[in-house]
Amino acid sequence: MDDSKSQSHGHIVMLPFMAHGHLIPFLALARRIRRQTPFAVTLAATPLNLWYLRSTMSPDDDDSGIRFHELPFRSSDHGLPSDTENTENLPLSQIGMLFRSSVSLATPVERLISDITAEEGRPPLCVISDVLFGWSVDIARRLGTKSITFTTGGAYGTLAYVSIWVHLPHRSTDTEEFSVPGFPERCRFHRSQLHRFIREVEPTDEWSKFFQVQIKLTLASDGWLCNSVEEIEPLGFDLSRKYLKLPVWAIGPLIPPRMLRKSSPISPNSRSKSLQKHTGKAFGVSPEKCLDFLSSHSPNSVLYISFGSQNTISPSQMMQLAIGLESSGKPFLWVIRPPLGFDTKGEFRPEWLPLGFEDRVTGSNQGLLVRNWAPQLDILSHGSTGAFLSHCGWNSIMESLSQGVPILGWPMAAEQAHNAKMMVEEMGMCIELACGVESRIEAEEVKRVIEMVMEEEGEGGEMRKRANAVMGQMREAVKEGSDDDKGSSLKALDDFVRTILGDSTNRTFSFL
Ligand code: UDP
Repeated sequence: MDDSKSQSHGHIVMLPFMAHGHLIPFLALARRIRRQTPFAVTLAATPLNLWYLRSTMSPDDDDSGIRFHELPFRSSDHGLPSDTENTENLPLSQIGMLFRSSVSLATPVERLISDITAEEGRPPLCVISDVLFGWSVDIARRLGTKSITFTTGGAYGTLAYVSIWVHLPHRSTDTEEFSVPGFPERCRFHRSQLHRFIREVEPTDEWSKFFQVQIKLTLASDGWLCNSVEEIEPLGFDLSRKYLKLPVWAIGPLIPPRMLRKSSPISPNSRSKSLQKHTGKAFGVSPEKCLDFLSSHSPNSVLYISFGSQNTISPSQMMQLAIGLESSGKPFLWVIRPPLGFDTKGEFRPEWLPLGFEDRVTGSNQGLLVRNWAPQLDILSHGSTGAFLSHCGWNSIMESLSQGVPILGWPMAAEQAHNAKMMVEEMGMCIELACGVESRIEAEEVKRVIEMVMEEEGEGGEMRKRANAVMGQMREAVKEGSDDDKGSSLKALDDFVRTILGDSTNRTFSFL
């Protein structure tokens, strides 16, 4: 679309938080808005995060017309190591500092919105900002535009995270279980599901000051966009709308469109080439090697293991996981990083695994170890992948369920334990193996659970059937078509457009 024309329809400014798992869905949302609406879109981020976003774009994206705007940021001004603009590579002890430093983006964001307003003669239609950027709500309002919060998580998990930070309900009881405002009594939460930082939080400490303040501010925005699908978590959406008392639009899954096609007409290898730029990272082994490994095993037989873009497990957990995996005899593909307490970007030392482990499992073709980063989308969309041992980050869940792959949960941080709880209790397609980096796991238990999830019949088979049904719902949700015929997530995007245009009719727009 001619850019001046799109500008004349209106402009949307987008502000992602500085973490890999937030940047990618923001970019996917920007693409979807550009594809489905005539609006100009400016994605604003710090220099290194912009560089990273650009590096994920393929030549096909060149005409998407998304504008990138650089927000000045110098990490050393905030006590962070130089060139640190992202949660990745940061130890937990410094992540709090990054959160706090993000508030300094308010001034350049204010300037950006004022400049757009001066240039176009009217303010942007809205600012879509991350759930961690509550400071932007007031800026948007003052500058005459709408403020929309985008959660890159699911509805249930986000609501639990928001409500626990806002009310700190675990602090008003001594019991292990507690109820969370916004959730019915049957959905009781457990202390062990909370990250150490929130479990031990004092309302006056730095973490609390950041999260409570920023999250509470987002409750005053004009509506929430959520990277999920209405049909797969009806309870989460129902509870979120009642709690927030705002429109909540389910516009997901925001994953590459080819992951959502019924069957890909292209071969696994060419598909790999087209997908591998999705995350813009260097892979620990070539995508071809992963696909060859998967192709050497039968359908639904391989367990894929990854803890997302920044997590790892403790040395003793790594050892027990390796022993359990090997003794299960099940094929596996494991994205492995140095354990907790070591430089996660450093060399992987053999002593972190049982003696001779890697040689034995690669020699017998039982396992493939991939250092640090793997082509996750290619792996999940391969027919041999039968289950995913995951930290339950929301992007990983969306990617896995979009391929009908059930989950073995090992949540680590953020809202991941709430995502796992929902998948276990509401969706029945997840078994939780462990929770957090402090939990004790035994190889015997690892073996038992892996065998159960990987079985063709029984509990594993049932989980796979349910995951397949969810895959169908996710694909339906983004089905293109005219008005009534289109999927629920595209209809929700239409409704979002009506809201930001201030249009109270029920019409669909001819440009949609
Ligand atoms: N990812 C990947 N290869 C890896 C690990 C992660 O491509 O080896 C991608 C994965 O596909 C997902 C994102 O990184 O899109 C991780 O996001 P998620 O929300 O699951 O977890 P986070 O990293 O935010 O904890």
